[in-house]
Amino acid sequence: MEGMEEAIKAGKIRFPAFSSHNIPIAIELMKSGRFDAVQLPFNCINHEAKDTAIPLAKELDMGFIAMKPMGGGLLDNAELSFRYLLQFDHIIPDPGIERIEEIREIAAIVERNPSLTDKDQREIEKLRMEFGSSWCHRCDYCLPCPQDIRISGVITARSNLKRFSRDKAKALFESAVEKGRTCIQCGECVKRCPYHLEIPSLIKESIDYWDKTIAK
Ligand code: SF4
Ligand code: SF4
Repeated sequence: MEGMEEAIKAGKIRFPAFSSHNIPIAIELMKSGRFDAVQLPFNCINHEAKDTAIPLAKELDMGFIAMKPMGGGLLDNAELSFRYLLQFDHIIPDPGIERIEEIREIAAIVERNPSLTDKDQREIEKLRMEFGSSWCHRCDYCLPCPQDIRISGVITARSNLKRFSRDKAKALFESAVEKGRTCIQCGECVKRCPYHLEIPSLIKESIDYWDKTIAK
């Protein structure tokens, strides 16, 4: 905070902002009055901020940046994801993209500004049921692992296999999955995960899914 205050005084920062994965901590910081913007994960399946940090940001006239607007790669329907986000008039989504076509697709949706339909709502409910709350946000707060396992790379194997071709998923994640087999279930990562994920069980489930899918 001292460094930030100095940088503000020196004119190096005009609008101090912070990023978090923890809503109660974010709310405390927002209420401190020392920040102009906040970034939190927000998308149609991770929507905890909807009734908490988002209305508070509006009330405090703070910017709200929606981190992982497509669930960090879990959601493959850009139209649905952005229709959902466009309901909120004072948030800015921050999508991670891999190809120029992806940002063009997103920009076209935003320009059309479509409304969320009843069918979309039903689809979102279905996705929420499917993913529940046990999905990895790829924040890597669970690291370091004593076995040097790249945890998010292992437990997102299912979505990675859906998102990439089999060969590309193998090239990108096989080494992480192989390392995942050395998990000693010490539970150190579970203590650090802000989403309280049961990481050792998720690693096991993910490796089983990987083995079945890659072996096909
Ligand atoms: S439980 Fe497994 S993944 Fe988690 S820190 Fe321990 S060894 Fe690493
Ligand atoms: S397991 Fe938890 S801490 Fe680790 S990357 Fe996923 S969400 Fe973040």
